[in-house]
Amino acid sequence: MYTTHGYAAKDADSPLAPFDIQRRDLRDNDVQIEVLFCGVCHSDLHQARNEWRNTTYPVVPGHEIVGRVTQVGPAVTRYQSGDLVGVGCLVDSCRTCASCAEGLEQYCENGFVGTYNGVDRVSGETTYGGYSTSVVVDEAFVLSVPANLDPAGAAPLLCAGVTTYSPLRQWGAGPGKKVGIVGLGGLGHMGVKLARAMGAHVVLFTTSPSKIEDAKRLGAHEVVISKDPAQMQAHVNSFDFILNTVAAQHDLNPFIELLKRDATMTLVGAPEHDHPSPQVFNLIFKRRRLAGSLIGGIQETQEMLNFCSEHGITSDIEVIPMQSINQAYDRMLKSDVKYRFVIDLNSLRQ
Ligand code: NAP
Ligand code: ZN
Ligand code: ZN
Repeated sequence: MYTTHGYAAKDADSPLAPFDIQRRDLRDNDVQIEVLFCGVCHSDLHQARNEWRNTTYPVVPGHEIVGRVTQVGPAVTRYQSGDLVGVGCLVDSCRTCASCAEGLEQYCENGFVGTYNGVDRVSGETTYGGYSTSVVVDEAFVLSVPANLDPAGAAPLLCAGVTTYSPLRQWGAGPGKKVGIVGLGGLGHMGVKLARAMGAHVVLFTTSPSKIEDAKRLGAHEVVISKDPAQMQAHVNSFDFILNTVAAQHDLNPFIELLKRDATMTLVGAPEHDHPSPQVFNLIFKRRRLAGSLIGGIQETQEMLNFCSEHGITSDIEVIPMQSINQAYDRMLKSDVKYRFVIDLNSLRQ
């Protein structure tokens, strides 16, 4: 065991505060990673505050990790010291069920192991995430970060990137398709960039008029203020796909009405309280679909990183020291993030 410095929430109501973590000694397939940067996902806030009602305390959030390999276990073949690597939301799964066999570890039928607030399959201990200076992860769940990507800007790809990439691929975003992205936060801004790079016609829905220009700069062809019924009306029955990233409970009906016949709106936002059930007739009459999607598997995460490398895509970030995490959470709750906070873990090494 060795000690690493981190930040943890000790209960749902306290701010995050310094916390020393005991990391395990390397198992045969483990990679030890010096964390350089860690993105701040809204899921970190949901879990730090027990909004999903399943948090084990203390919790050390962080699942958008980019770092350098510092040591490898004797059986590791894919990585060596000095490699630039990433870790996303998953650090293990059963590896034998039908979903794992298909490379869909996020849907592991025996339960995946989360990077934090998970239960290690060997020791039974709670996992601690990337708000820390060092992590130890099985090589099968470590990603290779392409050299042409800025390490800080690449960190949010590990969750926000793959969580939007996966459904955009699954529902066929591409040339000739009109794709809506709802919410311009961490996930939403990646959704805009990725859908644009895939060749779709991209429409961004926002509640924040101040984000219109940014949305266009990020790649949206059109921007709609979702609170303005006239603007929404202009897009009725026209979308092939809508990806909804909103982190709060809201009325889904105005978006469902924008779908063509047989088109789908997929929810990735995971708010504390469920959305009210949408009107059934709005679905029935056009055979519209409402779906959900969870992050992405390891293979798909690597595919997304390679896609971002080819297209020169990283996240638009605001780098913060670890000590500013509580202010960052407050700003995230006000939708005041442009467009992802990323923690520089050097702030914990001084
Ligand atoms: P974020 O950066 O806080 O962005 C959320 C955006 O939602 C805001 O920027 C805002 O965009 C919009 N929004 C917030 N409150 C709203 C409200 N009351 N009504 C309408 N729009 C509102 O959060 P994030 O990190 O992108 O995460 C988004 C959600 O996805 C979170 O719930 C997170 O837990 C979840 N998530 C799910 C997965 C998955 O696998 N399914 C993975 C990662 C995260 P505008 O200002 O443009 O309106
Ligand atoms: Zn996340
Ligand atoms: Zn499995």
